[in-house]
Amino acid sequence: MRWSTSKTVVGSLEGADIVTVLVGEEQREFTIHRNLLSDSCAFFRGHIEAIPSPSHHQQNDDEDEDSILWLPNEAPDMFEIFVLWLYQRRRFPAFIESATQAMCPDKLRTLRTNLVRLHLFAAMIELPAVQDAAMDALQDMYLRFDWDMSPHFLAFLYGECDAQHAVRLRKWAVAMLAWSLHGVDKAAARHDADKLFVAYPDLKADYHMHLQKMVQSRADVRIKNPQLRLPANGLRSGERLFGFRQCTFHSHRAAVGEGTCPHALALGQTPFPLPVPGPDKEEVESDKEETDIISPVRDLNEVSYLDLS
Ligand SMILES: [Zn+2]
Repeated sequence: MRWSTSKTVVGSLEGADIVTVLVGEEQREFTIHRNLLSDSCAFFRGHIEAIPSPSHHQQNDDEDEDSILWLPNEAPDMFEIFVLWLYQRRRFPAFIESATQAMCPDKLRTLRTNLVRLHLFAAMIELPAVQDAAMDALQDMYLRFDWDMSPHFLAFLYGECDAQHAVRLRKWAVAMLAWSLHGVDKAAARHDADKLFVAYPDLKADYHMHLQKMVQSRADVRIKNPQLRLPANGLRSGERLFGFRQCTFHSHRAAVGEGTCPHALALGQTPFPLPVPGPDKEEVESDKEETDIISPVRDLNEVSYLDLS
């Protein structure tokens, strides 16, 4: 996965407040508020600061072509979820949650694929808050639908992904693998895993390191479920036997321990189902009216996700 860092700039649409991003080979167009995108991370800030102001910019067709941020190797459906996060970060978990309740199995799997891509994309642009939102959503989906870690997914993480970008996903996937290998249907899973261990020595090493850590912390790998994320606050002593602390698979730089997750507010740690709140002025989001006009994100059910599963 590589980025075109090539070209930036303004959408031909509405001047300085709007940036146009083209995504994928098909160049699906996203128009995004300049400040919102710029404030999200250094990657976008750098590109957007290079955008000439429209008032000093003699617009013609050629210049427009030279002045668009194009991400040719990213999936538009993944980027759509990123834009959803950008505009609705506090409500992001609720949107994903309600989308998964209504989706057919095929769409659920492609949503999962795009959440994985979102996690990797966020690693590339160094935006840990998005990684952690994606990770929480993935764990919740796996818990809700009781999915196992598939050999295909492990092969993707260890065979196709940059090791650094995928480090958190790998950590979680290995914990999932260990959990299923020690579960009830272990014979078939063991057979698949042995083949994977031969193909991907890094996976084998990570797996054994994980088992070692489980032994050191006196955790029972048969019941410590990596689908189950436990907020650090208010954790009762018995609970950690059955799940992992939420921050275990997070990417933020704050110490992973007993403290509060720095993304807790943004991640909306409220029991489901969430009511859909009205516009909230404190949020770093556009207000509702702007979102309706500008945000390209529609109902997640209507999105035609690419399928990599
Ligand atoms: Zn955290």
